[in-house]
Amino acid sequence: MNHKWVYSYKDGDGEDKKLLGGKGANLCKLTQAGIRVPPGFVITTEACLEYLNDPDRNLPKSLMEEVSMHLRDVEEEIHRVFGGRKKPLLFSVRSGSALSMPGMMDTILNLGLNSDTLEGLIEDTKNERFCYDAYRRFIQLFGKVALGVPDELFDWEFEQVKRRAGTVQDSDLSADDLKEVCQKFLQAVERYSGEPFPNNPFDQLEIAIKSVFNSWMGKRAVDYRREFKITPDMANGTAVNIVAMVFGNMSNNSATGVGFTRDPGTGENVIFGEYLINAQGEDVVAGIRTPKPLASMADEMPAQFEELMDLRNKLEAKFKEVQDFEFTIEEGVLYCLQTRNGKMNATAMVRTSVEMVREGLINKEQALTRIKPDMLEQLLFPRLDPDADIEPVAKGLPASPGGASGIAIFDADRAEKLGREGHKVILVREETKPEDIHGFFASQGILTSRGGKTSHAAVVARGMGKPCVAGAEGIDVDVKLRQATVGDTRISEGDIITIDGSTGAVYLGEVPLIEAEFSSELKTLLALADERAMLKVMANADTPKDAQEALKFGAMGIGLCRTERMFNDPARLPIVIDMIVADTKEERILALDKLLPIQRDDFKSIFSIMAPRPVTIRLLDPPIHEFLPTEQLLIDEIEILKNLKRNFQGLQVLSDTVSFMHHDDPSRQKVVPPADPDLLDAVIVKKEMMLSKVRSLREVNPMLGHRGVRLGLTFPEIYSMQIRAILEAAAECRKEGIDVHPEIMIPQVCTAQELKKVKEWVTDIHTQVERTYGLTITFSFGSMLEVVRACMRAENLAEEAEFFSFGTNDLTQATFSFSREDAENKFLPMYNMNQILQDNPFDVLDVKGVGKLMELAVKWGREARPDIKVGICGEHGGHPASIEFCHQIGLTYVSCSGPRVPIARLAAAHAAIRSK
Ligand code: PEP
Ligand code: MG
Repeated sequence: MNHKWVYSYKDGDGEDKKLLGGKGANLCKLTQAGIRVPPGFVITTEACLEYLNDPDRNLPKSLMEEVSMHLRDVEEEIHRVFGGRKKPLLFSVRSGSALSMPGMMDTILNLGLNSDTLEGLIEDTKNERFCYDAYRRFIQLFGKVALGVPDELFDWEFEQVKRRAGTVQDSDLSADDLKEVCQKFLQAVERYSGEPFPNNPFDQLEIAIKSVFNSWMGKRAVDYRREFKITPDMANGTAVNIVAMVFGNMSNNSATGVGFTRDPGTGENVIFGEYLINAQGEDVVAGIRTPKPLASMADEMPAQFEELMDLRNKLEAKFKEVQDFEFTIEEGVLYCLQTRNGKMNATAMVRTSVEMVREGLINKEQALTRIKPDMLEQLLFPRLDPDADIEPVAKGLPASPGGASGIAIFDADRAEKLGREGHKVILVREETKPEDIHGFFASQGILTSRGGKTSHAAVVARGMGKPCVAGAEGIDVDVKLRQATVGDTRISEGDIITIDGSTGAVYLGEVPLIEAEFSSELKTLLALADERAMLKVMANADTPKDAQEALKFGAMGIGLCRTERMFNDPARLPIVIDMIVADTKEERILALDKLLPIQRDDFKSIFSIMAPRPVTIRLLDPPIHEFLPTEQLLIDEIEILKNLKRNFQGLQVLSDTVSFMHHDDPSRQKVVPPADPDLLDAVIVKKEMMLSKVRSLREVNPMLGHRGVRLGLTFPEIYSMQIRAILEAAAECRKEGIDVHPEIMIPQVCTAQELKKVKEWVTDIHTQVERTYGLTITFSFGSMLEVVRACMRAENLAEEAEFFSFGTNDLTQATFSFSREDAENKFLPMYNMNQILQDNPFDVLDVKGVGKLMELAVKWGREARPDIKVGICGEHGGHPASIEFCHQIGLTYVSCSGPRVPIARLAAAHAAIRSK
């Protein structure tokens, strides 16, 4: 088959990122839209895969022929010759896969230089210094990337020349100095690799193409894909972009820079970025010279700045997304070198979504779908308490917002190790490089002493949503001594520091952090999501405080209130224990009478907070022995008490004996036992009763045992008390004019008979409460579906229940027969690692098994009661992929923990949009 491996930017399909990579596809779009980019062409990702699949690592047949053909086109277009002694053409060779992986793969600039073309370039530019500078950069980059020569060898040679020349700045080196640098670099390559530096530009090109292909399987890139879960169907192989070089370091009328069409830290609609006059691209990102903000270009290069603003507008209009672009100005002419969708933190994503809708740049659906729901988690990041009385020890650039504290660690490997051990780490570096990526993953935040807001550290931290302070130049980092100094202050490895990525401040010690609050933009965005979503989003909230929180996150009601959490309150536990150890129904009712007003007050305050939204209260679920101490603890305590009793008896004997011996001397001190002996007996009796209760309640499989409705049916007075507390709380609220919608939910149901029985009690108590309060109380009655049989009998259950709520935690346990308490610590990680199961089913809803049961239950339930409300309240209710499934099978709502409510709201909108 005659395969096409190479496309010119003039005719490649700008939509086909899988084939041409993001960078290549976008360059096609730019070229075809008439935006000035240097001419070039792109080798497909298919060619990369073909090459990597070949055990001998040969480039696909005919690839280099196609490359030569395109090369000639470029030569003709700009009247230069690749490898020519006159007017030589140089290329940049860049990687670019379907998904952007900043800094993960290789780039080579100035390719095509050798001693001949160098002469041509000097003749052409009349700028010897610039040409030697370009040459030494090429030798180093090519040497490092394509031939594996370590950077340190080049750095060492470079420093020697600088020292001899007596200069500090690179820019102070003369053409002759740089000529010497080139010679030394060529020798260093030959020494290291045992071969002379490849002189033939076509050889250089072939080696460079191979090395870019190889970088796809390099450790950095592989780690990155694993961390960000980039699968082959998202991005497979890298394309190679071969683009004519334009030079930002040709003169003081030349420059290079990187820009964002909007501020990626805040989302503000202002151009953001940095540039350097008389420099090449890598100078800006490497942080070697500190670049200037783009705004100052308005003064320094006004005409080009205007063009830049025009470019910015064109980019946004074309891509309908914030763009992260690179540009070069060669002798006053502005070229766009590449563009891609800007990676931004959640704050910026939300703000730009809302503002771009207002500006008419995107529609509401685009505003919602461009943000991954899980990303909103970042907005829950803590920030430094503004009231904390603190003085920064240093200041850098606010490169990625949020606050973080941790121990200062000066290299990525140690950061990774300590992070894994559970330490909170701040990675402190002079500047970071792509090979530090594993250190980023393990750190709470990143601090660098050099580089700007678009330096590697800043870009990567922002992408990860981790706080970063960059370019804190007052800090002197000494990686070898593992310390940093700021004036007289020393920060040693292990010292706690705090960084504020929103202000750029660095503090010694730990600074208190406070929770983030919702911005008005986030509220606007989520309101758009609610308009679009079909699913309602409820919260799992057990206490009035949880309810308050949930409301803040935009919960539309409470989908699960687990009443046992109220029982566990230390002030109530003794009453609950009395209720459990009670021998007779009368004794139990006595304890329940004490619990009733407490529960009623809890419910009342939850109803008031949530009014007029629905509140689903689940009657007691866990096995009651969970409220008692363990058997072993009781045995130990009883033994201690019995020992104490013997000692106590001894004290009594001592007391009696002393009194007997000195009966005639009232002035002698008496030995008085410390307490009433009967008290000790009473305590022992109580503990023994508890022990015997614990023994009688013991079960081999408590999670499959005496819990939920089974418990409720055994001790009707417990459920009756709870039902009464719910209905009386509703009545009291109604009396105060509060609009309440209680829902009574029964756990662990497996047959309609269970529901029928409890419903009888509910009906009775309801009548009594209405009579007592003299008003009507509306409520609904429903069932959890967390037992396989309940799903199978959904049609019968729906005759009794007005709503269902899938308890997918238990339903997953029941479907897999995996203990939810143990599986995640025992065999599940191994199952996941070996791909026996793709995901942890307690995390990600198992659509194929558990989901199938749910789908059937919804269908059958609706056959009996078409308007039945169906929701989910297991942990999966807050997971975007599971939410999408819940939408597909027609659930009415999802319920999840409060902080996940915003994520679920956005995910619900995504699901609705996708299913259009
Ligand atoms: C469930 O089983 O999914 C559920 C919500 O109940 P719990 O986790 O309290 O058992
Ligand atoms: Mg459950």
